[in-house]
Amino acid sequence: MKDTAPELFDLVIAGGGMAGSTLAWALLQAQPQLKVAIVEQQPEQVSSVSFDSRSIALAAASVDLLRQWGLWQGLEKNACAINTINVSDRGHFGKARLSAEEYQQPALGYVLEVEHMGALLTDKLATKTGMTRYAPATISDISPQQQLQHLTLADGRELSCKLLVIAEGGLSASRALAGFSTAEKPYQQHAIIANLALPQNHQHTAWERFTEHGPIALLPLPDKRYSLVYTVADDAVQQVMQLDDAAFTAHIQQAFGYRAGVFNATGKRACYPLSLRLSTDVVRHRVALLGNSLHSVHPIAGQGFNLAMRDIAELVAQVTAATDDIGGYAMLRRYQQARLHDIGIVSNATDALVRLFSNKSRTFALARNMGLLAMTLCDELKRPLAEQAMGYRS
Ligand SMILES: Cc1cc2nc3c(=O)[nH]c(=O)nc-3n(C[C@H](O)[C@H](O)[C@H](O)COP(=O)(O)OP(=O)(O)OC[C@H]3O[C@@H](n4cnc5c(N)ncnc54)[C@H](O)[C@@H]3O)c2cc1C
Repeated sequence: MKDTAPELFDLVIAGGGMAGSTLAWALLQAQPQLKVAIVEQQPEQVSSVSFDSRSIALAAASVDLLRQWGLWQGLEKNACAINTINVSDRGHFGKARLSAEEYQQPALGYVLEVEHMGALLTDKLATKTGMTRYAPATISDISPQQQLQHLTLADGRELSCKLLVIAEGGLSASRALAGFSTAEKPYQQHAIIANLALPQNHQHTAWERFTEHGPIALLPLPDKRYSLVYTVADDAVQQVMQLDDAAFTAHIQQAFGYRAGVFNATGKRACYPLSLRLSTDVVRHRVALLGNSLHSVHPIAGQGFNLAMRDIAELVAQVTAATDDIGGYAMLRRYQQARLHDIGIVSNATDALVRLFSNKSRTFALARNMGLLAMTLCDELKRPLAEQAMGYRS
């Protein structure tokens, strides 16, 4: 028999990546009296799989939230504003252009290398009262009780909490332990990411170009650089990854063309298999899913973390409204109700975009080019796209 009671927390967050760490910080900003723990499998957050070499496009609405939680002030100096987004289809007539000026906004969004976010959150959470970090650690058993969740870690330590939030990414083990199931649709594509150096200024322009090899996104970064996201079919990915840096730069230049200027050099590459993976439930007894554990979407439209930011804002609001019953049935139902619509819209729209722009048929090409042309000509069609890009529509 154990002689010590398990340590009791208000919330335990499984997974201290982008979504889990941001949630911990936002919660403790809103409710400093809470006791929160993170259980993270990796010893160092900065070098974790979540805070790797990728860059993300943050919608203006996500930046508003980061500002509200006191994080943007530490990130802004490393972020690059997106003032214009150009969407085009290589070899076809269609194109669309969105600009912040048209919508009287300072920017449509910002691009940030996620390692900066990892470093900031690591520093801030390390000194935050109410915060405990178990790392490296994983949950090996989840045992639900009426008022609490009882957790056993793989090293034998035991914790209890009113609410377990699972934010372990798309391949979460705790999600399965807690009894959630998922629906998965592999895209048979990988995303290759790298930074490209330019001799010219990028004028804060982002590009999304649909090419015969697959969609290419270029996001502007500080210091005359683009962050590249290149979607490649599974059967071609090894060949592209094996190119040396000069050959890879030439390949991207040839595939994209010269609309965004000349690419001088390429940095380190990484690649990710792509699937749509959705959990069939958002919550169970005293458990909530968040971020990629709840919804993993294709990066084509840069929506994954922006969606997670809205999960976080909602969960913080619900915890704040229910401090005497954190993790209770009513609170979790409200979180689920509030998130389902947004997740459905974004995952369906992203999936439709992948199918439309990965299809080589002439009918599909005509349809997407008519769509892009119509958006250029008609503000009524463009506005929803711009609002989605800025994160002000769900
Ligand atoms: C190429 C690419 C480009 C993208 N671009 C954008 C973009 O422009 N805009 C955008 O909004 N989104 C973008 N995304 C999506 C974004 O990266 C994800 O939405 C985000 O990383 C999700 O964060 P997360 O914390 O939910 O999951 P993850 O980043 O996967 O983090 C999960 C964390 O949980 C930990 N963990 C895993 N298993 C366990 C376990 N069993 N126990 C304990 N800890 C565990 C991991 O170590 C990690 O720290 C992009 C994604 C890709 C692949």
